[in-house]
Amino acid sequence: MAASSSSSSSSLLKIGIIGFGPFAQFLVKTMIKQGHEIRATSRSDYSDICTQLGISFYRDMTGFLESKNDVIVVCTSILSFSQVMNSLPLNCLELPTLFVDVLSVKEHPRDVMLKVVPGESDVVCTHPMFGPESGKDGWKDLSLMYEKVRVTDEATCSSFLHIFASEGCKMLEMTCREHDYLAARTQFVTHAIGRILAEMGIEPTPLDTKGFQKLVQVKESTSRDSFDLFSGLFIHNRFAQEQLRIVEHAFGTVKQQLVKKMNEETEDNPNQCTSDK
Ligand code: NAP
Repeated sequence: MAASSSSSSSSLLKIGIIGFGPFAQFLVKTMIKQGHEIRATSRSDYSDICTQLGISFYRDMTGFLESKNDVIVVCTSILSFSQVMNSLPLNCLELPTLFVDVLSVKEHPRDVMLKVVPGESDVVCTHPMFGPESGKDGWKDLSLMYEKVRVTDEATCSSFLHIFASEGCKMLEMTCREHDYLAARTQFVTHAIGRILAEMGIEPTPLDTKGFQKLVQVKESTSRDSFDLFSGLFIHNRFAQEQLRIVEHAFGTVKQQLVKKMNEETEDNPNQCTSDK
């Protein structure tokens, strides 16, 4: 893994977005601000939102692919990525195009893109480690993980990465495997704990400690993401199952420690009441 400043070269790009859900809508606001020409397509109809943003929306995938994109950014859910990529009529591509994904898992889209994307087109895997909430006041000091999986057109790749570098993102170049190993231990665990806290129904009270307020924040920020996103972190990151096992095991261990201590205390002070044995 290396932190790099990315390249200094940049030019305005024609960027096509596949999957215009919450994350894509968040990303394109910055791309539009920077002057890139954006066009989008999605399963659902986002014509109205695109009109408001001043960009084109294609209902027809063939027209979208023929629209001479320099870069195609795939922003679909993790769960639908393979099906979406495999259904693209890529024979309609007019030019070699840089394909980029932004999925929160990385080995899965890398493998799919290497199978599906024509050999003359480039492939870069990225994961912006932020979203509409954490990035709402700008992207400065937020991280962009990327791997140049297959790049021959360095200029287009540099211009694309410059979108993030120029906003002040920390540019983290690492392999998709390294990403998934670390993300399972960090992002997946955060989301799993957040979902457990939501399942418990924790809510703010007048007595909250700072620590509890942070737990409520974790619950709220992770519950805002779709369940497709959360389950995708589990299903398509081969390191996540092990982390779920570790969470379960740790819960059991802490419970055992408490019960053991309670039993010791009861043995030492047999007359002391315990509320619940
Ligand atoms: P998401 O629920 O992960 O994905 C929503 C997108 O997937 C929408 O564009 C939706 O299209 C499309 N989609 C879902 N099922 C589909 C299907 N069966 N066929 C075709 N398209 C389908 O929500 P998201 O937050 O927008 O995330 C998008 C991607 O960005 C994900 O891969 C996620 O891992 C990544 N990401 C998200 C964040 C974040 O903070 N949210 C941060 C970094 C990376 P329609 O809307 O047209 O139905």
